[in-house]
Amino acid sequence: MTRYLLSLFLATTLLGCTSPATETGDSASEESTDSAANSGTESSDGVVNVYSARHYDVDDEVYESFTRETGIKVNIIEGDSAALLERLRREGEQSPADVFIAVDAGRLYQAEQEGIFDPVESEILSQRIPANLRHPDGLWFGLTKRARILVYAKDRVQPGEINSYEDLADPKWKGRVLIRSSSNIYNQSLMGSILAAHGEEAAEAWCRDLVANMARKPQGGDRDQVRAVAAGEGDVAVANSYYLAHMSSGSPEDQAAAAKVGVVFPNQDDRGTHVNISGAGVVKGAPNRDNAIRLLEHLTDETAQQLFAGGNKEYPAVAGYATVPELEAFGEFQEDTLNASVFGSNNQQALMIMDRCGWR
Ligand code: FE
Repeated sequence: MTRYLLSLFLATTLLGCTSPATETGDSASEESTDSAANSGTESSDGVVNVYSARHYDVDDEVYESFTRETGIKVNIIEGDSAALLERLRREGEQSPADVFIAVDAGRLYQAEQEGIFDPVESEILSQRIPANLRHPDGLWFGLTKRARILVYAKDRVQPGEINSYEDLADPKWKGRVLIRSSSNIYNQSLMGSILAAHGEEAAEAWCRDLVANMARKPQGGDRDQVRAVAAGEGDVAVANSYYLAHMSSGSPEDQAAAAKVGVVFPNQDDRGTHVNISGAGVVKGAPNRDNAIRLLEHLTDETAQQLFAGGNKEYPAVAGYATVPELEAFGEFQEDTLNASVFGSNNQQALMIMDRCGWR
């Protein structure tokens, strides 16, 4: 496998593109901006060119196993989603890109809106990947998923005291709720799912009451909310499952913080817990379209799923495959089966609600 990296610093500086979904305060976010060097791709029969916002060591193993199985060489261009999208725009029809991989549904939606994807029909993909985790027209497919969980202080909150996202708006939690900024895509997607569940008026009322319950002005990333619960700044926090999983096997300080909190998978009595995805689609005009589809199919086999998901302590998109021990320890849960494409289509409205209700 050949690895090509692009200079994101240069790209973002020269082109002035910004990333609204930067992982403020999260030290091991899945999007980095520190790559370097040049670029180049091939387009002959035996290759597939992947533009990926993921950069985990295990990814190489997955691509190498694909090459061993098929003889198709995988060329990777890594960068954050914004820089990769800018590059795709710039390259236009000349782009050698076959596959675009993004680390959340919001980014996939953005790429979809820009017309970057071409629909794919694949029996393997539609059989293996649950319908809610892939685009209804086959524009992209979820590969891994993460739950947006509630985390509570075990010494101050009883199990069963908080059970849903809606509970976060209960006056009982006044001054006790920790959640990051509304500029973060995970919260925008969560808001999009609340909007889908309750409609605009109720979603806005929820948002207003949530803001009234905040322990402090939103700051930091998801890990910082968990750390703040452990430090007693608030009693309940909202975070993606993988951040707590990373903390529970991380630095001694993070392990100590993680040990002080309990996990709630919200809304188990109704629509289920909000999940978001990382995923991939085949690029319009891909010079190696068949190879691209084969790669996506390969990414859904058991070993690839476990490696891909395990790399960031996420859940495999394909049901029934084992997860990492840290997630296993959280227990099982029912997920909200709202299609992940709705997070994107509700995004504008979600942003307006968050702005009106004062979620900064
Ligand atoms: Fe993240």
